Amino acid sequence: MAATSACVETPPSTDMSFKKALAVASPLTLHIVAECPVTKARACDLKLPHCVVSTPVFMPVGTQGTMKGITADQLDALGCQICLGNTYHLGMRPGPDLIEKANGLHGFMNWKNNLLTDSGGFQMVSLVELSEVTEEGVTFKSPYDGKTILLSPEKSIAIQNSLGSDIMMQLDDVVSSTVTGPRVEEAMQRSIRWLDRCIAANSNPHKQNLFAIIQGGLNAGLRKTCLDEMTKRDVPGFAIGGLSGGEEKDDFWRMVTLSTDHLPREKPRYLMGVGYAVDLVVCVALGCDMFDCVFPTRTARFGSALVPWGSLQVKHKQYAKDFKPIDPDCRCPTCKRHSRAYLHALFKSDTAAMHHITIHNIAYQLNLMRSVRQSIVQGRFPDFIRAFMRRMFPSREQYPSWAVDALASVNITLE
Ligand SMILES: [Zn+2]
Repeated sequence: MAATSACVETPPSTDMSFKKALAVASPLTLHIVAECPVTKARACDLKLPHCVVSTPVFMPVGTQGTMKGITADQLDALGCQICLGNTYHLGMRPGPDLIEKANGLHGFMNWKNNLLTDSGGFQMVSLVELSEVTEEGVTFKSPYDGKTILLSPEKSIAIQNSLGSDIMMQLDDVVSSTVTGPRVEEAMQRSIRWLDRCIAANSNPHKQNLFAIIQGGLNAGLRKTCLDEMTKRDVPGFAIGGLSGGEEKDDFWRMVTLSTDHLPREKPRYLMGVGYAVDLVVCVALGCDMFDCVFPTRTARFGSALVPWGSLQVKHKQYAKDFKPIDPDCRCPTCKRHSRAYLHALFKSDTAAMHHITIHNIAYQLNLMRSVRQSIVQGRFPDFIRAFMRRMFPSREQYPSWAVDALASVNITLE
């Protein structure tokens, strides 16, 4: 009788999606190369359909099939093994049908490495004023022609199936990390139901990996419930969502470490929307493998170059006669060829300056993660972090207290 009542209580879609997920081996394997004996950091080889990704990895964000200010060839030359495509923008224009005709987003942008696409939901909630969330999906008015459009879990997966990305993200019910009260629980529970609908809707599970997104706001109990439920699903990977949206950093790292404590060891862990160097290094220590953020490319367009000691504002007068490269230790095409003085002068008259700084900033992020990985493999990650912090901050007093606490929680004391 117990079995019968369980059957009755289980919605048919959930039952189906479990079977579907179990029946198809995921087109992803995670090989753990090394684990830090002190912290929760790990270095992995993440095998995806287009190539192997060395983790920890930062994934640059391309908005409409191209990286703003950089070509697919240049990105490849920097050693980028995976980048993001934006489902909302690509779904609106040029539209999934056209991209499918071009052999998916890989063919359309002529990108031979891996692609991750988001669900489109976050853009809708954050960019479109007139969006409304119901159980069916997210309804919004198209900014292009004013038509009302419903983005359901099924529609999001259909678009991502057309794009042909190696990793697809589930549609989740996104609330700002600063929202509190019953809406947080509602969004978390709905995200679980939408995950099941996304699993069932994936028409290409042997080629495209669907990642679940852990929600629950800043409430440890809700996060734990979401972790318990979502990890019952046999999805190829998990993302930690709903963070990095203006919450206190102390809440941020506690939710990250709670999540990694309960995510399965043998699957990749993707922390969404994180890209500041300090956050990356700390969250690797807390056990995250994958990161993305528009910050490095967006800040480049304002003339801000990322360097091991923070950032360098190319526009500032002090660089007008400075013939050193942005970072003398950086071997990116920009630093090999151009001086601060040249970029300073160019910035005043030509968008090419933004392009050069974008290349440097992406190179900086990729190199940072390569160094992090190497230190994990060589068993010296704690020393790497200490040296990184010494270089980034002029004095011990300037270390952010949240970073000190987060690192202490994984046995790293900063002298
Ligand atoms: Zn450089």
